[in-house]
This record gives sequence, structure tokens and C-alpha cells, in this order.
Amino acid sequence: MTTTLTGRAAAPGAAVAPVFVLRTDVPASPIPERRRGATDAEVARLRSALDAARSQLAELATKVAEEAGQSEAEIFEAHAEFTADPELANLAADAIEDGASAERAATSAFDTFRDLLSASSSEYLAARAADLDDVRDRVVAILQGRTTIVSAPEERSVIVARELTPSQTASLPKALMAALVTEMGSPTSHAAILARSLGIPAIVGCEDLLETVEDGMHVAVDGRSGELLLDPDEQQQADIAARIEEEEARQRELDKLKDQPGATADGHRVELAANLVSPEDLAPALASGAEGSGLVRTEFLFQERRSEPSVDDQVGFYTQVLEAFPGQRVVFRTMDVGADKPLPFVERDAEENPALGLRGIRLHLDRPELFRTQLRALLRARAAVAGTDAGRLAIMFPLIAKVSEVLAARSHLEEVAAEEGVDLDDLEVGVMIEVPSAALSAQQLAQHVDFFSIGTNDLLQYLFAVDRLQGGVADIADPFEPAVLRLIGEIIAAGHAHGAWVGVCGETASDPLIAAALVGLGADELSMTRAAIPEVKDALSQLTLAECQEAVQQALAAGDDAEGIRAQLAAAFTGSRGA
Ligand code: PEP
Ligand code: MG
Repeated sequence: MTTTLTGRAAAPGAAVAPVFVLRTDVPASPIPERRRGATDAEVARLRSALDAARSQLAELATKVAEEAGQSEAEIFEAHAEFTADPELANLAADAIEDGASAERAATSAFDTFRDLLSASSSEYLAARAADLDDVRDRVVAILQGRTTIVSAPEERSVIVARELTPSQTASLPKALMAALVTEMGSPTSHAAILARSLGIPAIVGCEDLLETVEDGMHVAVDGRSGELLLDPDEQQQADIAARIEEEEARQRELDKLKDQPGATADGHRVELAANLVSPEDLAPALASGAEGSGLVRTEFLFQERRSEPSVDDQVGFYTQVLEAFPGQRVVFRTMDVGADKPLPFVERDAEENPALGLRGIRLHLDRPELFRTQLRALLRARAAVAGTDAGRLAIMFPLIAKVSEVLAARSHLEEVAAEEGVDLDDLEVGVMIEVPSAALSAQQLAQHVDFFSIGTNDLLQYLFAVDRLQGGVADIADPFEPAVLRLIGEIIAAGHAHGAWVGVCGETASDPLIAAALVGLGADELSMTRAAIPEVKDALSQLTLAECQEAVQQALAAGDDAEGIRAQLAAAFTGSRGA
């Protein structure tokens, strides 16, 4: 009998493949302090753990070089070098002579090296101190017979995990990921966003997952319904295959709209842009007919590295994105790190509630040197493409809560522009509206910016007091709730009253029904996961602006809750499309 587990649909698509359980959270057992065996045997155990770590790291470097490029692989090559350092091995062997266990000796030797590097006046060496912790943990894990790091499947598999961070998701071999299923998380967690941008079917918040599935078990994943079928029978496999075929056929139909600009049936223009994470998103976004980008999540450029990318590295990435979108606008959001996107090379105090802590603009203003370096790189990329037909660069600040933060951010921008000798005349500067206090200050904020982009992922999290990473309560923060649509309507009106254009770049813009409602509320631009662009374009092309406006106003007048609003909108739009 087939068992079905149900989670939340997080990325469309379907797959049938064996399970690979990622064990990233095996708890470390306490390390023994004193060695039990003979000195020689313990030293040999240490040396073989160092050798094993070295070959794991060399393998990882090869994999990363193939998938992400040589510069990313260098991190792991450097890690491998640490394990081959004779001084480090000798220091650890001395500690074993003095009676320490191999685990304790390795830990102390790595920590001594770490302290030396941290104290270095070279920024580069100091940044590599954190790398040593990773290598130390790997060596100790090998000594304890554990797996510390994300292991990788050997065949194409459905990856199953309790939860995944965005960098773990990014480090998995894409060709081997048939689908992703996690026990925790919600569709707006960054791992889910990344799965969508990679085009991998995903289910999140799947309860009892790890108790029920095991390595090698055959499963079918339906990323649209959120269903995970364990050991599907032939009929079920055939159904899934038919669904995949149907989706592909629909996709071929939608592909025909690729070069058509986003607009309602009566020609009211609405830019349909793509949210981007990495250079790998560019080709698929262009293939989906993206009109520029309303959100480049630049933080991913920083997160996959152990040290801060140089200005030149950053300029290279920003220029590449601009060149991909000739004549269109590309909104670069300054790095929104913190919360579920920590920066490996920035040391910070532990936070009880990171989503409410030092993230986004707060981190920019707390570490202005990081912020200014990024602004400098953005301005240089803009200068590098000036006079060509490359895209128009716009800059956007994340997690704005009040006007003073915008003013502070702008003055950094002006100072950096003065240092670079460039003017800011035709540069559009905007803010994300994703904190309720910003939404309620939209009239004031609009006077200092050219545009708003409404980040519904965080706006819903803070509006409903629902952690976007926690699956269990995710349903409370429903984008169809009247509070959401009403607030978005007010933000858009406030922006327009002061001449600012207003876009929406949270995940809700990917739902064709809500996208039409957002257009009815006056949204000028919708930026979304690239795979959703054709569906949204198709839906809008069948409705007039007046139909969108009427439908959303009537729904808000009559619907008291998300269900009511959803039903009203569905009825109005289906009626308008004559379906
Ligand atoms: C949002 O909060 O809606 C948003 C687009 O930003 P992110 O998902 O990266 O936090
Ligand atoms: Mg956000």
C-alpha cells in the first residue's frame, strides 16, 4: 500500500526517484579529552583523519569547480591545504604525546592556528580563520565516525532533509537533485525560493518525513500539490508521468508568449520581471521572457564565499547581469544578510530572534565598510556599461523600517558616488517595503525614493507574526487575507501620490490570481520567480485593467477572510475570461 505524506507545495514540477536523506544535523557527541590507547596508535588515527579530510575536500573542490567554477572551488582547495600543514599535524601530535585524545589534539591545534590567523593584520588571512573551524569540525567528525557536512547523492535522487539553509541547497549537485523535500520550512523560506529558481520540484513542511522515509526508498514528488508518495505503484507512477507531460505541454504553449510584453487585455503595461539569485538564473530568466529584474538578491554572491568578494569580483557579476537585459531595468538589492542568510565572513553576536535582529539595512549601517564596497562596485558596473545598450541599474535597500535609515543609506551612496566621481542624476533608488512600520510610513518614504518594491515574504512574516521558516504556522500568513491586500493598496497609493512607481517582488506575485489583484490595486511591476512569468503574463493578457480593479475592490468589500477573497477573485476572473 502506498503511503502519502503531504507538505506544502514549494516549487512546481514532479519527479519519481529514490530518496537520499541528507544528514546535516547529526549531533556531535562530546569529544574525549584523554587518549585511551598507545601514543603511536592515536597519532596514526589523527593522521589518517587528516588524510581522509584532505581527500574529501579535494573531491569537493573538483565537484564545485565543475559546477560553479574555479574561483568557488578555491575555498575547498585552501581547506585541503590546511589538513596537509605539517606544523599543524606536529602540534596535534605533541598534544597526543602529552596524553590528549586525537579529537582534543586536533581541536586545540586548529584553534591555535585559528587564533594566529585572526590576529593577523592581513584582512585576507583573518578572513580565513573561520575556514579553519570548518576544517576542524570535519576532522573531528571523521574521528568520531560522523558526517558533518552535506553529503551528496551518487545518483539522481529526491533529497530529503529536516531543513536546509540556502547555502546547503546551493552546494548540492544540481544535476543529481530530482526534487527536494524538507520536514521544516515554508514556501517563502530561502531554500524554497532557491529550489524554484533552480527549477527543482520541492515540498516543504512535510511532517513526520524523517521518521517515515529512508535512503533508497522509491518516492514520487508532486511539487504542485505538495504530495509525497512512498513506494508508488505503477498506476501512480504513470499518473505522475502524465502530469509531467501535461505541464510540459502547457509550458510549450506559454513559451509562445515569451516575447510579448506584460500587459492587460486593454494594453495597460505591467512589467513582468524576474527575481534573480546567481548568474545561473540569467539564461532561464531570459528564456521565460523576463523584462529585466525587479530583485537581484545580491547576498548570494557573498554567502557562498568564505571571504568578502573583492570590488572587481562584484563588478564582474553586476555587469554580467546588466548585459543580459539590454534596455531593461535591473534592480540590485544591496545584500540582505542576517536572519536565515548569515555571512560566513562576518562575525556577529548570537541572536535569540535573528529575523528581528541585525539584518538588511541595519547591518549595512552597522558595517558601513561592507555596504560602501558594494555601492562602489554597483556604481562601477553602471559606469562600465554606460553608453552601451546594457540594462539600467537601479539600487534598492532592504528591510527599511523608517525614514532615517533611507537618509543614512542615501548619504553613503552620495559619498561613494563623490569618491568615484560619478553623478547620481539618472540612477533610480528605491526601498523594499517589507516591514509594517515602513508600510505605514509609505507617504513619507516615497518622498525620498524613486520606487518601492513590496516584499510580501517578509511583510507577511512581520504583519501576521508568523516565522517564514516555520512550517506549522505558515498558513496563518495568507496573502489573500484582506489585511494584506488593503495594506498593499495603501502602499501603492502612497507611492503614486509622490511620483514613485511601485512593484511587488515577494513570492505572492507569482500566483496569477493574486498578480491580477495586485494589478487591480495599481502595481506597476511584478517581479517573481522566473518560472511563473509565462503563467502570469497569460492571465493578465486575458483581463482588462478595469476588470482587475473591480474584482479586487468587490472582493475587499465582500470578503472577510482569505477564503472569501480567494473565492471572489477566482469567480470574477474566471467570469471575465469567459471560462
Ligand atoms: C521579501 O521579503 O518579500 C523579499 C522579496 O525578500 P527576501 O525574500 O529575499 O527576504
Ligand atoms: Mg525580504
